[in-house]
Amino acid sequence: MAMATQAEKATFDFFSDYTMTIDGKSATSTATFEAFNPATEEVIASVPDASRDQLDSAIAAAKSAFAGWSARPIAERQALVAKIGDVIEAHAEDFMRLLTLEQGKARAGAEWEIGGSVIWCREIATQSLATHVAEKTESRTVETSRVPLGVVGGITPWNFPVLLAVWKIAPALVAGNTMVLKPSPWTPLCTLKLGELLRDVLPAGVLNIVSGGNDLGAWLTQHPDVRKISFTGSTATGRKIMESAAGNLKRITLELGGNDPAIVLPDVEVEKTAKELFWAAFQNTSQFCVAAKRVYVHADIYDSFAKALVDYAKTVKVGDGSQQGTDLGPIQNKMQFEKLKNLLDDARSAGLSFLLGGEIPEGKGYFVPVTIIDNPPEDSRVVVEEAFGPVLPLLKFDDIEDVVARANDTEYGLAASVWGKDIDTARRIAGRIEAGTVWINEIHSFSPHVAFGGHKQSGIGIENALEGLAEYTNSQTIVTNRAV
Ligand code: NAD
Repeated sequence: MAMATQAEKATFDFFSDYTMTIDGKSATSTATFEAFNPATEEVIASVPDASRDQLDSAIAAAKSAFAGWSARPIAERQALVAKIGDVIEAHAEDFMRLLTLEQGKARAGAEWEIGGSVIWCREIATQSLATHVAEKTESRTVETSRVPLGVVGGITPWNFPVLLAVWKIAPALVAGNTMVLKPSPWTPLCTLKLGELLRDVLPAGVLNIVSGGNDLGAWLTQHPDVRKISFTGSTATGRKIMESAAGNLKRITLELGGNDPAIVLPDVEVEKTAKELFWAAFQNTSQFCVAAKRVYVHADIYDSFAKALVDYAKTVKVGDGSQQGTDLGPIQNKMQFEKLKNLLDDARSAGLSFLLGGEIPEGKGYFVPVTIIDNPPEDSRVVVEEAFGPVLPLLKFDDIEDVVARANDTEYGLAASVWGKDIDTARRIAGRIEAGTVWINEIHSFSPHVAFGGHKQSGIGIENALEGLAEYTNSQTIVTNRAV
């Protein structure tokens, strides 16, 4: 496998050694693994594979930093979290290029993710949780406040490695916890870089970054000194985490998979909505927990909508995310690429009809073309499974009761969208969808101040908003009797 060229090394400073951050210091490891560029399959760099002892040291460092960090006035913690945003912003260009290099996403996606990470740090840094005074008389007060938990373990996936790490770091630290964060072994580089840059910003031990495989994640979730796990990833891993968190009754926030339905009513403007739905489904090459993964279109407009979607899709360029003009990058890793090839083989052997795509191109890189499947049976794998890649089933409906039942007929319940000019009808449908977020006539509008979380097997708990911040705390009631 070709290593990066000298010229590339001169242009980017991304091919050097990456180090973990444990107790504010650099940590390497004798064991390493490699990070690949999914557009070329070339090795970018080797990455430390943390030992169990190193994880123990990181957790011990977080534990001993907790007393000092949690005792600091919240304003100081907020200021330091806002500063994390400043650091990301100051290195935004580097982060965007490194993100494209390791994750594969095109420039616009990298801008969205890095820009969003800056905003999240700054906005979460404005949040705090009020003390509720239930009783206050001369002789007695009853007050309930929120206190930090201790050491939090963060585990992130490979689709939005920076933003999803920030969604955990910012509230965990504002709330007064310390953290050990483990990025996905497929996309560790930006997170390790962030750890390196923050060594001079945060007190030692407050944020430790360790890299390694799935075993490292499992050790973190089993560790008795970790009080909470905040996890984003697949539902299968979420189940394992819930099981292992039982050991010391860790708190858990699980943001898991989805198979989000989009319902397109007959009164939409077809071309405009088809374009919006294209990006709803294919943004980040569909490696998006809340991508529209099943698009139900009313029979009256099905044919014209399908045509508009395919016509628009043909204008979109799939390629190396670092090249100008690329709209959608490759699949991030070989494992996911193989899964998608298998899904496409299954669709072909089931005799499904392809409106577009379906053929994997020859050559290097994990490229899967935009694929749209014409009204497959509801029980086919492309409808039932979370593809997590650009394979979209377009489905026909003509009855609202039927489409609501089909939308809800899934173990998942992350998000959904409804599209139509008749807002009352759209709103009624939205209220009946079993999902944590339902967008009407827009999609993927996230905010640090809006709660996000899944229903059913899409997760437990909330990220963002004060509800998300509260998940990094315990409730503590202090009853004071002054009549002594
Ligand atoms: P994954 O579950 O395979 O891995 C996620 C992380 O968990 C990685 O860091 C991995 O090393 C770690 N891990 C794996 N096994 C573990 C174990 N036994 N114990 C502890 N940690 C372990 O998920 P992925 O393939 O990286 O990500 C894709 C999935 O994430 C999709 O299902 C997607 O829908 C979901 N996702 C959800 C959200 C959300 O907010 N709900 C956001 C993004 C992605």
